[in-house]
Amino acid sequence: MQKITDNVYVETDFSGCNVSFVVTNEGVVMIDTPMVPADAVRWRNDIAKYGTLRYIINTEPHIDHFAGNCFFDGTIVAHEGTREAILNASIEQVKGMLTSMTPEGSTPLDDFSFSPPSITLSKHLTLYLGKHTFKLINLPGHSPYQVVVYVPEEGVVFTSDNVVNGTPPFLHQALPYEWLESLKHMQQLEANVLVPGHGDVCDRSYLSIMSNTIQTWIDAVSGAIDKGMSLEETQNTISVLDLRDERAKQIQDMNVAHLYEVLKK
Ligand SMILES: [Zn+2]
Repeated sequence: MQKITDNVYVETDFSGCNVSFVVTNEGVVMIDTPMVPADAVRWRNDIAKYGTLRYIINTEPHIDHFAGNCFFDGTIVAHEGTREAILNASIEQVKGMLTSMTPEGSTPLDDFSFSPPSITLSKHLTLYLGKHTFKLINLPGHSPYQVVVYVPEEGVVFTSDNVVNGTPPFLHQALPYEWLESLKHMQQLEANVLVPGHGDVCDRSYLSIMSNTIQTWIDAVSGAIDKGMSLEETQNTISVLDLRDERAKQIQDMNVAHLYEVLKK
């Protein structure tokens, strides 16, 4: 766990997404939850040293961000699209993922369940707790339901997977042009510290790198469409990622399949 500002703590080393919490003088607000139960229990014990957990914010509709909700007490807040995704999520899928991540079977999955948010937003929501303000903003990109959390008192933005550092972005549910706009919007927030959805904490200069990354994907796929290539030809021709890695090829095929459909229109 790293302390990144006076009151913000982040863990970037759990399997799954980055998880964070903010300590206020009226309790703790958590951003995303650890997916692996053993990590969730450890995180819960760490947080208890800093105060009562008041709110849990899920930044997006993907399992690695919300699977751990059931290990925490606290009012869950998320986009209404994320609530839908949680209500429709498959317990078997997460159990399968967790079993493959913890092969010794050390993971106690019997009481595992999904906890949906009790408060949702569609565009904006502001939480006031103690001396802190949490501005939740729907900024579509990685999915339509991304929620970025801006805490001005700490100068921190929790970006969700709209920013990932050192790993390829997943575009399987992406709105590519809205994503570029959302990165511009984040550029305008007065925050020097960014907590990405995955990878190391970075500063706002990383937003332009992320923007270039998304633009590269758009250009590669729209270039192939302009040349009249089929989806399969596109998947087998372009190489945005280093395809010597088999996992990279799978991610690229997934990203191209979705982008091809979106950009073809
Ligand atoms: Zn995601």
